Amino acid sequence: MNLVFDQSPLFFLFTIALVSLSIGSFLNVVIYRLPVMMQNEWNHECKLLLTDDLKQSYTQDEPKVFNLATPASTCPKCKSKIKAWQNIPVLSWLFLKGKCGSCDNSISIRYPSIELLTAIASVAIAHYFGPTALGFTYLIVTWCLVALIFIDIDHMLLPDQITLPLLWLALLASVLGFTIEPAQAIIGAAVGYLCFWSVYWIFKLVTGKEGMGYGDFKLMAVFGALLGWQSLPMIILLSSLVGAVIGITLLSIQGKDKATPIPFGPYIAIAGWIAMIWGEKITSAYYQFALGH
Ligand SMILES: [Zn+2]
Repeated sequence: MNLVFDQSPLFFLFTIALVSLSIGSFLNVVIYRLPVMMQNEWNHECKLLLTDDLKQSYTQDEPKVFNLATPASTCPKCKSKIKAWQNIPVLSWLFLKGKCGSCDNSISIRYPSIELLTAIASVAIAHYFGPTALGFTYLIVTWCLVALIFIDIDHMLLPDQITLPLLWLALLASVLGFTIEPAQAIIGAAVGYLCFWSVYWIFKLVTGKEGMGYGDFKLMAVFGALLGWQSLPMIILLSSLVGAVIGITLLSIQGKDKATPIPFGPYIAIAGWIAMIWGEKITSAYYQFALGH
């Protein structure tokens, strides 16, 4: 397989583009359903904590099966099932002109956009790293980051169900020799978590407010484990930069009053992703600039 990919880089990029479009389609499901599943589970656990008396009155509404595969996707308006061909990424949305196949309910442009974004980001990774173990590791990371970014925008939360497996993946990839030395990865994970964790507590003790969430610490731990602690200052700087750019853009589009608070997770995710590809170039450019004169 690798031989075919090595001999024909274009074929490799094309395959990655097709695969990641479908992955993007699946990520749309994850982004929408995972938070609902978490809420359902939380409700269920709360019910279990209630006394038996109270439990009686709650037993009528047994939860319906709701996971990433069940029930099948339906139009939110007319409830008709999405047919197989209508799941074809981007193209089906274009063909249906952004509407449901059975009624005139419009389907958000966000769905094909997430599919396209996933494909573009994946092809960039495939282009930079080729059909290597490091490349495939970064592809999985990229897909998880897309899900994290949009769940965080929707719900101000980075689910453990995604951040923690990513952390284990990053540590295993290091042990398997795909990324950096294991010692570096472990230190990176710990420093990544602790630097934000300490900032969080100092900020909370001083101002009484919460500036970020535990999901942010875990995401920093992921990047620390992937890229080493040395890359963390750059990721923090980059995420502030990304945050400033997006914040100013949104302010100018939405106006001062309507501007919605934006979680910090997406900025870390974007900055970390940039560091995955261009981290070394940025660092060496910086040192050249700082020391070269
Ligand atoms: Zn419909």
